Order: sequence, then C-alpha cells, then structure tokens
Amino acid sequence: MRNQIFVVFLISSLLLVRCSNSKKEVQTALDKINADGLKEKISILASDDFKGRAPSTLGEERTIKYLEEQFKKIGLQPGNGNSYLQEIPFVKITTELNSIAAVIKSKNETLNLSVPKDFVVGTTRVVDNTSLKNSEMIFAGYGIVAPEYNWNDYAGLNVKGKTVVVLVNDPGFATGDKNLFNGKAMTYYGRWTYKFEEAARQGAAGLIIIHETDAAGYPWSVVENSWTGTRFYLETPDKNMSNCEFNGWVTTETAQKIFEMSGLDYKKEIASAAQRGFKPIILSSNMSISFKSKFAYTKSNNVIGVLPGKELADEYIIYSAHWDHFGVRPNTAQGDSILNGALDNATGVAGILQVAEAFAALPQPQKRSIIFLSVTGEEAGLLGSDYYAKHPLFPLNKTAAVINLDALNIFGKTKDITLAGYKDSGLDDYAEKVIKEYGRYVVPEPTPEKGTYFRSDHFSFAKVGVPSLYFGSGMDNIEHGKQWGLDQSAKWLRENYHKPSDEYKPDIWKFDGMVDDLKIIFEVGYDLSMTNKFPNWLEGSPYKANRDAMMK
Ligand SMILES: [Zn+2]
Repeated sequence: MRNQIFVVFLISSLLLVRCSNSKKEVQTALDKINADGLKEKISILASDDFKGRAPSTLGEERTIKYLEEQFKKIGLQPGNGNSYLQEIPFVKITTELNSIAAVIKSKNETLNLSVPKDFVVGTTRVVDNTSLKNSEMIFAGYGIVAPEYNWNDYAGLNVKGKTVVVLVNDPGFATGDKNLFNGKAMTYYGRWTYKFEEAARQGAAGLIIIHETDAAGYPWSVVENSWTGTRFYLETPDKNMSNCEFNGWVTTETAQKIFEMSGLDYKKEIASAAQRGFKPIILSSNMSISFKSKFAYTKSNNVIGVLPGKELADEYIIYSAHWDHFGVRPNTAQGDSILNGALDNATGVAGILQVAEAFAALPQPQKRSIIFLSVTGEEAGLLGSDYYAKHPLFPLNKTAAVINLDALNIFGKTKDITLAGYKDSGLDDYAEKVIKEYGRYVVPEPTPEKGTYFRSDHFSFAKVGVPSLYFGSGMDNIEHGKQWGLDQSAKWLRENYHKPSDEYKPDIWKFDGMVDDLKIIFEVGYDLSMTNKFPNWLEGSPYKANRDAMMK
C-alpha cells in the first residue's frame, strides 16, 4: 500500500514539474478538464430525456440541440457555413425474412438454405425485389486484393453475374504466420465490410461470407441478430447500385455442404486459401436467390464546430466522438428499455466538449484550427464519419490528424493508455512523447485479432488516408493492478455493453483516470496544432497510398 501511495505521489510531482516548467501556457487550458465538467455533461447526455440518442428520433433532436448550445457557449464557430449541423441522408433497409428463397444446385444435389439457421442475406441497393437465377459460384479464398501484401484472390477472375464465396478474416490470422499480412492481428482485408466492398468493385452479383467463430471473433448468433433486423446505410445518388445485388453469410456447416456438393474437401480448400499461390475455384454449383426489401428514408446529423487557429487557420486537427447510441428498445418485457449509452459514448462526447473548453481557454490561441466533430450513425456502421470522410467540410489534405474518443476510462487512474493501431502512423510519436511526459506508457489494443481497430470512427478517416489516433482506456490500474483492470473491463463488456445497463453511475464510476487521459489527449492535439507538420502513415501501412495521393 505504501509503495502505491509513493508511486502516485511521484507521478503527481512529475506532473507538477512538467506543467510549471515546460508548458505554463497550457496550464489554464488543462485546468478546464475536470471531473465536475465531465459529470455534468455525461449526466445530461446519458439521461433518460435523451432517449438513448438514436439517429432520426426525438433523442437525436435533443442531443444535437444540446451539442449546438454547448459549442456556442464554448465559443466554437459553426463548422458548416452558418450551421453546426451536417445533414446526412440515411436509407433504412429491411429484408422481408419470409420472402427469402435461396437454393444451391449442383448436378445431383439441391440445397435449400434456411434463414437464419444456415444463411442470412440482405441488399444495400434501393430496390424492392432482388432476384438471381443460376448464378455460377466461385470460391475466391479470402476475397482480398492487397497490393502491399502482394496478394490478389481475384487475379484472372471475371466475377460478373457470379456469386463469390469467401472466408472471413485474412491469411495471416489463419496461419499465424507473421510474414503473411499482419500475423494474428486482423487487417482491414479481414473485416467483413471490406469483403463486400471488394466484391462490388470486382462486379460480383453476390457475395457470401463463410462464418467461422474464431476468425470472425463472434458466434453465428451475432451475425444472425445484425442481419435479420433493419439496417441503416448512407443513401448515395446511384441508390447504392454499384454494390453487389446481395450480401450474405453462411454458417461453417453450410459451407462444408456447399463444398461437398462440388466434390471438394472444405478443410483442405480453406487451408490452401491461406497459402501464397492459391487459385480461386469455380464450384460446380449454382445459386438462385430471391427476396423482397422494404425502405425508409430518413436524415440524421453530424454536429461540427471550429476553433480557428491563429497562424495556420486553414490547417486542421479533428477531435471526433460519436453521439449516437441505440435508443429505446420496444419489446423489453420488464424493466429498463432505454439504452442510455453512458460509457458508449456519452463519455467520449463529454470528453471532446472538455477538450474544446480547454482549447478555448488558452491565453494564446493555438496555430492550427481545431475541429470538434460529433458524428452520428457509428453504431449502425460508422455512417456519420464515413459520410464526413466522403463529404468533408474542410479539406482532408489540410487535415493533419483525427483524434477519436469512444468510451473513456471509468475505473480510475492507470499507468498505461491504449492506442489502437499503435505503430501505424507518425502520429504515434506525438502521442508517445506526451504520454511519457505524464509518466505513463502506451499499450496497443488488447485484442487486435478481433479487428477492434476497424470499429470506431477514426477508421473512416484512416480508410481515406487521414492519419488518425484512437485512444482507449489503460488497464494497468494504479490502485489495483493490471489483472484487476482487465477483469473490470471484461466484466463491464459482458454485463453492460450495448445494454440498457450502460447507465451513468456517478457513485461507482471514477473520474480521475478519465481526467488524466483527457489531459494527454488535449496535449497531443495541442502539440500537433503548434507545428506545420503533416505526419503520415508509416511505410507498409495500407492507408499510406491514399494519403500520399491527396498530398501531391
Ligand atoms: Zn461507441
């Protein structure tokens, strides 16, 4: 116990030294980041009044009104002309489950796919009826085209009008080979969203992903849940007609049957798909599928405010945090039906508001402009950030960095802090410097094989090339140690993640760790705002080519 107190004392004194000597000018700003401010904001955002903050509901109205008021009060300028809002067109698509007929036929056999036991399917195209007859089936391994890994599963293939079957995750995960992709850590090529995007680029009629629990990082029930309800998409001018006609998933057992129908050994073929030199296999079976979809058009909003810089006002640093959550669950038999999303992500939104207050309190304004962007539709698939990245209100090649917050630390002070995608870009140097000055250390995200990096809004920016940082809570708790921190975090995920019990609990939550983290997060952005440098992705990063192209 005594040792721990000593450590806390030592760290606090280091902090004092740092602040009084090296950066006196930021002390006034840092003082704005405090527990009281966070508590006030989180309690409002996570209150039942805000109805779980679902896009296009009363919950959205109240949330964006509150954010606009806060941005004004802090002194931010509107980020979209005279407005703090960036309106986004959404289309809600529901597959009519009882309309789905899906049959696979080989020479001698017929396999009727049953939904959702064997198969789930949907379309992103805005069409009432999807119908495809006798579409030739091809097994294209992992369905990956990755020039930087010298890998192309579609090489020499023409998949127009065809149904492509692929595996989830990537060859690095499958083999554990460090020289293949990123070893066990999932690359974006392993993520299911990528598989659908690539198949569309290749012109396939349909794509079916083979679900495997290990490779996906979750059981079939998760696929089932998210593909049997209503899904949100961005509405594009072409009504999403450039996407595949249908996107689906099959269970491992169904995939085995499909391979057997073509006289193939499933295990052998998927093993060869993870090896260099794999050649796609034309299956001797055809797919026929038809189903109906329902649509509803709706709108939602990103909220954006700017604090102009003094010298380099046309260069930007973005702080982002999604405001949306899941709203109110209709059929909860008893008890609480509001998904308040207190940790996820009222904390992150409160965090960027506090950081905004800190910047606004600087005695000398920073050099570059700081953008505060609270995005919508994260929970529906990073939609708000994706829309911003495709329709930026400030030039992306003048945007030096994005710093994203999604769920802050509620378990107290830690020695470490998590950086997702650590060692991916030159931004890490800025983060590391500040983190060290605070006497703390960086850890990479704890489960890179689950693809956590691709599941929050910084990724929408990475994808188009803008270097982005995603800070997460540390686990190495100063008072209780690392195992305790890991256990608490796992317990929280099990009991509260995306559930009505993700509520604001001021008596249980600790705010000191959150305040520590936000000070670091402020200082990293401040340091970046005081340079004229544009850090890039490191050599070998899949995001570098896009950044290089926009900076030419
Ligand atoms: Zn979140």
